[in-house]
Amino acid sequence: MDCECLATCPFFNDQMADKPATSELLKNQFCKGNFEACARYIIFKSAGREHIPANLFPTQRDHVDQILKDLQIQ
Ligand code: SF4
Repeated sequence: MDCECLATCPFFNDQMADKPATSELLKNQFCKGNFEACARYIIFKSAGREHIPANLFPTQRDHVDQILKDLQIQ
């Protein structure tokens, strides 16, 4: 199953437009695979789309706690 955000996720257009190979790897690993492990998806589910930092990579799960703390969600 694909991530429900895939069609509209700004990450690939905004951050990865000039890195198609890396982009494909991340898409296969997260968006079309284990999307529940994506840092962006976790923020989306916990806080809402508007709180996802533009430059947050799917791999940056270690940033999630601090982002949610800053939003006073944790
Ligand atoms: S980067 Fe994360 S939130 Fe965006 S489509 Fe991929 S899995 Fe979903």
